[in-house]
Amino acid sequence: MAITAAPRADVEPIDRRLGLPPHPARLWTSTGDGRVRCHLCPRRCSLAEGEYGFCKVRKNDAGRLVTLNYGISVQLTEEVIETEAVYHLRPGARILSLGNVGCMMACTFCQNWATSQAVHVREEDVRRYTPEQVVETALAHGIGILSWTYNDPVVWHEFVLDTARLAKRHGLLNLYKSAFSIGAEAIEELCEVIDIFSLSLKSMDPVFYSRMTRARLEPVLDAIRQVRTHRDRHLELSNLLVTGANDNLTEGAKVARWVLDELGDDVPLHFVRFHPAYQYTAVGRTSIDVLKAVREQALRMGVKHCYLGNVPEAGPWTDTSCGGCGAVLVRRFGLVSSTPGLNASGCCSSCGRLSPVVPGPTGHGPAAAPAVLPGREITHLWHGESTSGHVSLQNLTGSPRVAILRPDLRAPAGRAIPLRPGEQWRLMVSREHPDSPGAALSVPDGVQAEFWDVLDRAHFPTAQEMRP
Ligand code: SF4
Repeated sequence: MAITAAPRADVEPIDRRLGLPPHPARLWTSTGDGRVRCHLCPRRCSLAEGEYGFCKVRKNDAGRLVTLNYGISVQLTEEVIETEAVYHLRPGARILSLGNVGCMMACTFCQNWATSQAVHVREEDVRRYTPEQVVETALAHGIGILSWTYNDPVVWHEFVLDTARLAKRHGLLNLYKSAFSIGAEAIEELCEVIDIFSLSLKSMDPVFYSRMTRARLEPVLDAIRQVRTHRDRHLELSNLLVTGANDNLTEGAKVARWVLDELGDDVPLHFVRFHPAYQYTAVGRTSIDVLKAVREQALRMGVKHCYLGNVPEAGPWTDTSCGGCGAVLVRRFGLVSSTPGLNASGCCSSCGRLSPVVPGPTGHGPAAAPAVLPGREITHLWHGESTSGHVSLQNLTGSPRVAILRPDLRAPAGRAIPLRPGEQWRLMVSREHPDSPGAALSVPDGVQAEFWDVLDRAHFPTAQEMRP
């Protein structure tokens, strides 16, 4: 399904449209004559009184730089770590995903354009949270990792720092998924609180960056190199192969070469399948044969761990195997993973060799609740290539409620989803087997529920996309 956006030229700025209050920004200087310069991303916007930055969520407010999206988020959503192209840490771990509004880039093919491009953001798709509410929600649902993701967390810097610091004090990890067009000072601040970086390198071609993302390549390369100097931070890299733009062996080889030369052969590299979106819809999805060929080439060049993303077929391109005996350590289908060959110490259970995958708490409870509760049942049938969806729930009552989710509707029992009084909650449900027909949800009285298709991983389906 390709989703496009009609141009919106004459809309009001996002703060006036949505009533967003200003919040003091970090990383800026006053340059005299009332102008300010933002240092958050390499664009380094110089703004006169009342002007907005390229991202549209920072502005010069009476001679000081303010951010307009502090605490402004899409609905907090439970997903799994594989959603963020992180394969070598805590397979299957539940994460709490947060995305905000605005972006320092403007990719023509953005799958999250409805939130990344401020001009398109609608009130129905945003929520307002404090750092305390985010951390409380993760703890209440037994989730151990906050994931800063979707549109791009760079332009949410102040809220990310405040919340991530609080999260660390409560024993949570922080994951940062970004296209990483960001300044050096901001990276150093992030490295104090972010444990896991999943970074996207769009291309090794400067012209691709300027034409298709409106950002520059070199600062992104510098930023990724800078994170790599923090060797205690987990790093994985993704490269989206966009049909007709960079989906070929030559471009794939340039990415693999740079990873080998600058990051090392042990940094996992994900080649990711594109779907038509936003302003780039006249082409089809990336060919799976091309993706497989680009991966094979990277392996031959020396990349040790190379995966394909958004590919509906399971196989060696999604699994992690032991470098010693070849046993499958982690098996993946879509966003569902299992660890048949990995022991609790992170070693191959066949030959004992230390694996590149670090296991850890996943946040999954003992599960198995009764399949059906009094109330109603909603089913969602998988169709086409879809392997995951979001379940949106709202407890309209003043007392706790429990819904029961069966990711495979044929299963006799399911997972209990506790809902606090008045709580809105979203969680990802993924197809567990190729032959699974769909998922089912038992919903008690007083709870609203809806299934929404997720087009690819790290896509946040908004109300305006699903109910245009
Ligand atoms: S973060 Fe926004 S305001 Fe700051 S330099 Fe980048 S685009 Fe400009």
